[in-house]
Amino acid sequence: MIYADNAATTKTGAVAQVAMNVSMELLWGNPSSLHTPGQKAKEALESARERIARCIGADTREIYFVSGGSEADNQAIISAARLGERRGKKHLISTTIEHHAVLHTLDQLRREGFDVTLVEVPENGIVDPAAIADAIREDTALVTVMMANNEIGTIQPIAEIGALCHEKGVLFHTDAVQAAGHVPIDVGALKVDMLSLSGHKFYGPRGIGALYAKKGIALVNVIHGGAQERGKRAGTENLPAIVGMAAALEEACGHMRENARYVSTLRDRLIEGLSEIPHSILNGDGERRLPGNVNFCFEGIEGESLLLLLDHRGIAASSGSACTSGSLDPSHVLLAIGRPHEIAHGSLRLTLSEENTEEEVDEIIQAVDETVTYLRNMSPIWMELVGGEKSYVIQ
Ligand SMILES: *Cc1c(COP(=O)(O)O)cnc(C)c1O
Repeated sequence: MIYADNAATTKTGAVAQVAMNVSMELLWGNPSSLHTPGQKAKEALESARERIARCIGADTREIYFVSGGSEADNQAIISAARLGERRGKKHLISTTIEHHAVLHTLDQLRREGFDVTLVEVPENGIVDPAAIADAIREDTALVTVMMANNEIGTIQPIAEIGALCHEKGVLFHTDAVQAAGHVPIDVGALKVDMLSLSGHKFYGPRGIGALYAKKGIALVNVIHGGAQERGKRAGTENLPAIVGMAAALEEACGHMRENARYVSTLRDRLIEGLSEIPHSILNGDGERRLPGNVNFCFEGIEGESLLLLLDHRGIAASSGSACTSGSLDPSHVLLAIGRPHEIAHGSLRLTLSEENTEEEVDEIIQAVDETVTYLRNMSPIWMELVGGEKSYVIQ
């Protein structure tokens, strides 16, 4: 099997597995207990916190462990909304290409009376900082913009947006779930107040994440109960997952430069190969994208059929985001960057890792080429295009 769906989840890496096994065998105590097994677990917990903090240039006390990227996004946005509300600020800003963990949290706050502005994103999938600046008002409580998009891989100008939010005194959160472990993050340089990350997107385990919240930001609880995580997130800590995530992030950050160089070479080879397929188009900026992300639309076919046939040929890919595959709605991200419905339906996302090889990339290119041709030959829409009854959207 060629695995090319790393944006959905990554394989748990060897370093994470070792750390998790050690934790399960030796660090089974409850970190809140005062006896020796508890204190050993507590030490491992705090060491993991320190190592994660170091990877993103944060202070140890600014890291909170949560159940994943979704919870981190929820807590960051809800905290900012509540803080704003207390000062009469009920306006929230985000973009049309965010993950559903952000968009659906904002929907909920809108139902509670908040005013939400979703800034539109141009065709290249890169947010314009000037558009964010224009959206900021006197009553803006939060700007939240993802660091890298999970579907089209575009990397956003977070430092610029951070600087302008800082200048205007507006809280700034970034969902860095796709970025962490893959592109450098320094919370100070980026001027972010809050940042979300998730273990299973950088070879750590799933069901674990971290929220960075700058010193002085009073997080609001989403999970109520015990006093874990300095009272901001209740529940006995998932220590195996936490130490696994810390080990994985350290490993990814330690090899980031060479990994990115290798994976982006594969990416560019794949993009070049797939561009040869007639009436195909790359989604998202060609350069300002994650090292492993490739996302294409092919005219005249259904992404789901392509996905299933590729799976049959031993290639694991995605037709969009994992959350929307299975439903017939086209990707909200592709629609947001202006792809028409019928084109957005014919999308394919291939997300590579260090484990992929050039040979695999060549095999993917050949398989996609043949499968697209096969599907087009059966497609009534394609026949209309070929017959000139309809005109191509993708030239
Ligand atoms: C995967 C993902 C999430 C959700 O993270 P979970 O840990 O799966 O809850 C949020 N945002 C982005 C950009 C993601 O890619």
